[in-house]
Amino acid sequence: MTTRGRASAREKAVGALAQMTLVCDRCRARFEPAGSPGRCQCGGLLHVEFPLAEVVERTTFDVRLSSWQALDRSGVWRYRELLPPLPAAAIVTRPEGNTALYQHPQLTDWTGCEELFLKHEGENPTGSFKDRGMTVAISHARTIGAQAVACASTGNTAASVAAYAALAGLPSVVFLPAGKIAAGKLGQAIAYGARIVQVEGDFDAAMRLVEEASRELGLYLLNSVNPFRLEGQKTIVFELLHQLGWSVPDWIVLPGGNLGNAAAFGVALAQLRDVGWLERLPRLAVIQAAGAAPFYAAYRSGFREFRPVAAETIATAIRIGNPVSYERARRAIELTDGLVDTVSDEEILEAKARVDRTGNRVRTGISCLGRRRSQARRARGHSARRSSGGDSHWSCLEGSGCSLGVSSRGSSTTARETAGDDRAHPRRVGRSIGSCVVKCVSRLRVPISDPVSTCWRWPSAAIFRLVTSWTRRSASFG
Ligand SMILES: [Zn+2]
Repeated sequence: MTTRGRASAREKAVGALAQMTLVCDRCRARFEPAGSPGRCQCGGLLHVEFPLAEVVERTTFDVRLSSWQALDRSGVWRYRELLPPLPAAAIVTRPEGNTALYQHPQLTDWTGCEELFLKHEGENPTGSFKDRGMTVAISHARTIGAQAVACASTGNTAASVAAYAALAGLPSVVFLPAGKIAAGKLGQAIAYGARIVQVEGDFDAAMRLVEEASRELGLYLLNSVNPFRLEGQKTIVFELLHQLGWSVPDWIVLPGGNLGNAAAFGVALAQLRDVGWLERLPRLAVIQAAGAAPFYAAYRSGFREFRPVAAETIATAIRIGNPVSYERARRAIELTDGLVDTVSDEEILEAKARVDRTGNRVRTGISCLGRRRSQARRARGHSARRSSGGDSHWSCLEGSGCSLGVSSRGSSTTARETAGDDRAHPRRVGRSIGSCVVKCVSRLRVPISDPVSTCWRWPSAAIFRLVTSWTRRSASFG
């Protein structure tokens, strides 16, 4: 790029950032979006405020479906008028989204409703809905001139971060909690060029370390506290309603772990209502695994109390006892007069098998099952709240990152064994990561130079020196 071109790109970036403000959900403090967005000092989550672009006609989105322009092809940026106004030159897109809606008579019969659509978010570029949020967050990272990115992850996020960082030409570092790995996803992240730090402790320990590393080293943090990721996840709802010709389903059913999607869906629906594109709101049903159901417990108490739990379920991506987006998800349920329900691990495996048999491989089938369960309860008169509309029209979100642990071998036995790995000795976990790396590298013929470092008992300063050496090419780590 010429000097003049660079200056013009900088001006556009500054202009775009000036239109956005980060606002704390809890204390309403306001921040400029010029750095890596984490939490507010009060501990609250931030959200992005921006003026909606000139409201376009809905037919604009139909026209974009026949375009070959990268932003129009993306199932996220197609709806850019409803997203933070990042400069086009900074946008990094695969393109993501464009996930299909499926209908299967067997599943419709099994769930007991008249019409059922499955939206398969596993069809995103790296295999999970995380790509939708990642394209927006990485594009913001480029807009502010970030030099390296980082996340704590057990699987899907790592793969998505690594892929989008590679596409943006940025180094990426993944902090991995010992014994909580989805090896297939980790192999994917390594193949995309991410560097991995294994740390002793659980996901929360890895999260604390990556937040500290982000502050100390200036790494751009890509975990779900990043408000730009939630912005991208809103497009699941935009695309779903677009595919249904903007006719509103009675219910949208989705799995609930960290509750980021439930929160994003609530925001997206409120936005569509505000621009006058929905004649009514669909109701949201969030389904949790019985062993990891703090949101369900809060719902049963009328949201009077919320208590984190020690989570245990084979569905590793929703094995979360203290969901980050609890408050926002609660608002989404209240906004849509929604409901929360639970299913057992045995039921999850049965539902997965049923959905798989329709030719759609998913990780859990939990949404479909939730639909069936809620229908059955209603039939028995146990519904928590009376349905306000007919039950003819449902949309379920599947394959959205509800990983069954190591799913590369695909059997339920493997999933159970993997779930049991939580208490595995660090050396055993280290060996299994090692064999995953070797397999992945030998298949791809990539030269291996210790992409995984094991830092069981290292002080954080030593870990940060290692990370700095990996990201050394960046001027900011000088
Ligand atoms: Zn605050």
